[in-house]
Amino acid sequence: MHSDIYLTPVRAFTDNYIWVIRRDAFAVVVDPGDTQPVLQFLRDKQLQLVAILTTHHHADHTGGNLELLKHYPVPVYGPATETIPGITRPLHDGDIVSLPELMLDLHVLDVPGHTMGHIAYYGTGLLLCGDTLFAAGCGRLFEGTPAQMSHSLARLAQLPDDTAVYCAHEYTLANIDFALSVDGNNPALIERACIERNKRSADMPTLPSSIGLEKATNPFLRCHINALRKSAESWAKKPLQDNIAVFTALREMKNTFRA
Ligand code: ZN
Ligand code: FE
Repeated sequence: MHSDIYLTPVRAFTDNYIWVIRRDAFAVVVDPGDTQPVLQFLRDKQLQLVAILTTHHHADHTGGNLELLKHYPVPVYGPATETIPGITRPLHDGDIVSLPELMLDLHVLDVPGHTMGHIAYYGTGLLLCGDTLFAAGCGRLFEGTPAQMSHSLARLAQLPDDTAVYCAHEYTLANIDFALSVDGNNPALIERACIERNKRSADMPTLPSSIGLEKATNPFLRCHINALRKSAESWAKKPLQDNIAVFTALREMKNTFRA
């Protein structure tokens, strides 16, 4: 992790996190769905905005772009294949976003599934993954197929275990309730449930997570584990041929799950 870089969540709407990456007095904002909380934060901390990063086109991630541009005429990065308000730097898989003010380079990863053009940003030690990977869960499949999302998550799971994972929503406790229903004998998950509930009781964010913690506790990264396959098969009432079939069943189970 870059020791002089700080990431702070700015809360928006009910459960969105707009991550602000800063170094000294410079700031980059990720997925600003709203304007006022971001402007307030920048003013309070006396920060100069230098770029806006966008992971996908949904309004709760892009709705603040145009208004922020009125105050700070900065480059707007986002997926080339989606319609992003104010975009000036369309990105493709493999591109590198250079943020000299932060002395930070971020690699662009295509992670379709939640939306078709969804991208993630990865730099040494940190991952900004929008609505693709959540703490103990994953995004809904609004546009992509289960196979695409499963492949995207597998890509993220290959990053180093100590990568800090910055997701765009605080969904962790609901995700953990579901995870416990399908992987209830997993000691790492049971331990995590306790830790994250304590954080939320204290009104603290559960993020960042880490790739290692997600691999140990996130059912959608554990489709190859026997316990998850068994849970999915008993719900589907039939044998499931491969990990994608298990993923598909788990995602459908989660869509209708009530704790
Ligand atoms: Zn979204
Ligand atoms: Fe979202």
